[in-house]
Amino acid sequence: MPIKNIRLKRGKEESLDRFHPWVFSGAIAEPLPEGIEEGETVRVTAHDGRVIGVGHFQIGSIAVRILDFADRAIDSDFFASRLESALALRKALGLARTDNNAYRLVHGEGDFLPGLVVDIYGPTAVVQAHSPGMHFARNTIASALAGLEGLGIRNVYYKSETTLPFKAHLDAQNDYLVGGLETAVATENGLHFNIDWLRGQKTGFFLDQRDNRALLGHYAAGRKVLNMFCYTGGFSVYALKGGAEKVHSVDSSEKAITLTDANVELNFPGTPRHRSFAEDAFKFLDNMNRNDYDLIILDPPAFAKHRSALRNALRGYQRLNAKAFEKIAPGGIVFTFSCSQAVSREQFRLAVFSAAAQSRRRIRILHQLTQPADHPVSIYHPEGEYLKGLVLYVE
Ligand code: SAH
Repeated sequence: MPIKNIRLKRGKEESLDRFHPWVFSGAIAEPLPEGIEEGETVRVTAHDGRVIGVGHFQIGSIAVRILDFADRAIDSDFFASRLESALALRKALGLARTDNNAYRLVHGEGDFLPGLVVDIYGPTAVVQAHSPGMHFARNTIASALAGLEGLGIRNVYYKSETTLPFKAHLDAQNDYLVGGLETAVATENGLHFNIDWLRGQKTGFFLDQRDNRALLGHYAAGRKVLNMFCYTGGFSVYALKGGAEKVHSVDSSEKAITLTDANVELNFPGTPRHRSFAEDAFKFLDNMNRNDYDLIILDPPAFAKHRSALRNALRGYQRLNAKAFEKIAPGGIVFTFSCSQAVSREQFRLAVFSAAAQSRRRIRILHQLTQPADHPVSIYHPEGEYLKGLVLYVE
């Protein structure tokens, strides 16, 4: 089937000429090619017919995600070469080692594969499609992953039930595309974590906090640590490793608490230094005493999934941080995060600033954190930066 052309309105190629990979629906000259279907690979041209690139078509405000700014086939060679360069970067970052076998191999636009996420846990790749085009390419992607030299993938699990646009009616089933291993123990900086891609959130683990967990470990010695929104207990395990006096982990989900307890047990069997609580974080902070903790981690889920929820989200961050500033012991350290893409770095900092002012305490910024290098941001696509964090010293 010949590839269809999508022509832009006059002057609408500007952002694409600067390699931003999204074509918004309002930029397209009517009518759309006859018979075009969601997920099809299309050629995008300027109004005068000049070829801009090829990409995946989708119904919605982002109508095309550009895969290459040249007129080329999107076939198995394309995916193999993109994945090779993704792996070359992770190797350059030193992330594939005997004491570290968990990392993100593909971070969407940041790896010039918009709509695709691939996380690696040893011999397993967990694949998430965020666009119909990537959904249709899933088997080509799985074969390319299994064939990637130097990666050793024997198991590819496809997990896109909740990441694909609901309206596309793709009815994607989570399933194995290669192999059938059910769980794994992955190693991150020498620490071990049970990864459950079948039942866990996202791909089973939040790899994006790796560097921030390591930094936390550095500050944990002798401290009384409270890990809020602990999920798999990543920060808790690093705090124990760093020599914390005690670590308390809180998550409202019983399942998360079970995961945290198992990961603590895996690394520090029988330790009396750790306790976990299946409770709402806001209630826990309300009920705890002042000065119980001198290191608090606040890593909540995305409060704003969309722009419409922004105001409430900012209020949520302010409320949460204010409670921590009110209760933390003098000389305490707060690691506070926002993973909402809709919240900018400045907005998050302003919310934390308001919380600080409310507490009337002397508070200084020690570190400004972001996502790690295996979640790269294409310089042409600043929207790819989503994780923001501050480390604060509270007197
Ligand atoms: N810090 C984790 C990731 C956090 S994901 C890590 O490093 O891996 C967000 C977690 O917040 C989820 O596990 C979810 O169950 C939990 N959560 C959501 N709302 C909550 C609330 N009100 N109180 C406590 N936990 C909550």
